[in-house]
Order: sequence, then structure tokens, then C-alpha cells
Amino acid sequence: MSSSYQLLFPGKTVFGRGKFAELAEELAALKERGKFCYVTGRHGADLVRQTLLLRTGGVVFSEISPEVTLAEIDALVDTARENCVRYFVGVGGGSAMDAAKAGALLYHHEEPAAEFFYGRAKLDRRRVGLILAPTTAGTGAEATANAVLRDPVTEIKQSIRHATMHADLAVVDPALTDSCPARVTACSGMDAFTQAVESFLSIRANDFTSPLALRAVQMIFHALPGAFRGETAARDLMAEASMITGIAFAQSGLGAVHGLCHPLGSVLHLGHGESCALLLESVLRRNFRAVPEKFAVLAKACDCDSAEQWIAAVAALRDQLGLPGTLKTGQLTEEKIQFILANCRSGSMKCNPVFLPDEEVRALLTEQRKA
Ligand SMILES: [Zn+2]
Repeated sequence: MSSSYQLLFPGKTVFGRGKFAELAEELAALKERGKFCYVTGRHGADLVRQTLLLRTGGVVFSEISPEVTLAEIDALVDTARENCVRYFVGVGGGSAMDAAKAGALLYHHEEPAAEFFYGRAKLDRRRVGLILAPTTAGTGAEATANAVLRDPVTEIKQSIRHATMHADLAVVDPALTDSCPARVTACSGMDAFTQAVESFLSIRANDFTSPLALRAVQMIFHALPGAFRGETAARDLMAEASMITGIAFAQSGLGAVHGLCHPLGSVLHLGHGESCALLLESVLRRNFRAVPEKFAVLAKACDCDSAEQWIAAVAALRDQLGLPGTLKTGQLTEEKIQFILANCRSGSMKCNPVFLPDEEVRALLTEQRKA
């Protein structure tokens, strides 16, 4: 376990059912200082108009796709500059919050997003306000300092990151997830679960992050089926666990599921949660061989008698949520496997408890294709 680390968080994090209403008060008090740019998906746009915009004024940018593109960030920054905004407020799922984070950071940078995405220009600190409120449970993006972006031309999907991408204020109100369709609850919930597991297993896990990640694994394992059925108490637990997960993995990093699911999702046009669901079981079986003692702890936290039983229960949870456990034959061509191999060596991959050489990654992907 790593005994040298730094801890970075949002300036302030507020959790609780009903807290979003208080955000309107807080923002209204800031409006004399400058203009707001609300960044949302289509669902979040109505919420923002009905609750925040009336009190604060400002501009709403809702042209954010589930996989945020570089062009969308450039358009967001242009809109924000035309309106001389002082605050970026991201209300939505991971993509809306990541767009707000990237927009706020790049607002004072002259170069287009691609220059930073490909590491050709150096990022400076953020100079405008940043407030985030998730409407899913969740990506944990309200607690992290990166934004996952995608270049549709090269199909590369990766993060830009900077310590000042942590929000000044994160408001996590489980009530915002009440209207989530079951499919979104399943996908974002499986993402949160994968992130909690990968944070716990990460080679950068430490005595600060491990208890948080383990508790989040336990909460999500027990609450996700109820949240999927729309139960309020379970939704509250999911929102809290997702936030805890974000705080943990922002420090510890993730693992091979996240390393692989960006290129896999990109070439197969699969959503992030679906990609996580698809890869988790295969990666867990390989990681188990490296750190069996950690798997015993995970199993115990989820009331399973053995690691083997726990992995089977995780696969059963995925099936119960209607998420894919395999790919259709022919979906993953040799060309696509080559793309994944060439683009999977990210920071997440380096945090995996066991190194997966190319032939092991190929075996893992082929296993997905076969069933
Ligand atoms: Zn994720």
C-alpha cells in the first residue's frame, strides 16, 4: 500500500436530499459578481431553467453529448467568452460535469481543446468559478480533477487533467437522481461500482482511500438493485456512495477496466457504464491471482463467503441490471483489437494490481468476443 500521497478535493462538498434548492440561494448571492454559464445535458437543461436560471440569469449550454467531444468544448468556451461569464455550473451526468470542468479550465487559454488533449500545449490554472451538481449516481465526476474527452476523428478518448479542475463547490443531492430512467441508473451505477472496486485494488491505494473505496463497494453492491427499481432510500445510498467513490479514486487512480473501456467504448460506440459492465468480470478474474487477500476483503464486505462467490455475484448483478456480459460475434474485429492495444496504456492501466501484457489484453478481449 502506498505510504506517500497527496490529497486533493473540491473546495466544499455538500451532500443531502434537498440540498440542490439551497444551491439556488447560494448562487443568487453570487450573481452580482459575474455571469453564470450552465453546462448541462438535455435532461439537466429543464432542471436548470426551472430552478437556477430564474434566480441568477446567465446562459445555458446544453449541446453536450454523452461522449464529450473536443468541438463541443471549443463551442462551450466560445459561448462562455461571448457572454463574459464568471462561473461555470455543471448540472448533469459525468459528461456535463466534465464539460463544465474542461470549459472552466480552458476559458483563459487561447489554444483550442485539441492542443491540450494531445499534450501540445501546457495547461495553466483555472481562473473562473466552478460549481458541480450530479444528476446521476454516478461517475463521481463532481469530486475529480479530470475531464474525459473524445476526438471523433482519431476515436481517441482520454482525459485532460489539472489540479485546479476540482470544483469550488460540489452539491450532491440524491433527489436529482429520482427521475433517472432505469437504464441510466444501471449504467451509471455499474460505473460507480467499477470505480470503487478499482480504487480499492489500485496499486496507488492507501490508508486514506482504501476504507472509503471499500465502504462504497459495500454500499453500491447492496443498494444498486433497489435504486434500479426506483427505491428512494437506495437512490440516496447510491448518490452518497458514488460521491465517496469519486473522492477515493481521485487520489488512488483506477485500473484495467477503465484503461480498456475508453478505447473499447470508442471503437464499439458503447456507453461508459456498458463498457465497464462488459469488462469487469474478466479483469477481476485476472486481478484475483495478483491480490487474493484484497479479494477476500471485498467478498466479506459484500457478505460473500469467498472471492469466487463474490465475482459470480458481481456478474449476476450485471445480468440483473440488463447490462451486457459479452459482445456479439464479429463486433470486435482484428483492426479494433489493434486500436485498443495501441490506446489502452493510460494512467488507469498503470494502477492495475497486475500488469497485463498485450497478449493478455488480447486474450481478455477475445474472451469477450467468443461468448
Ligand atoms: Zn468510470
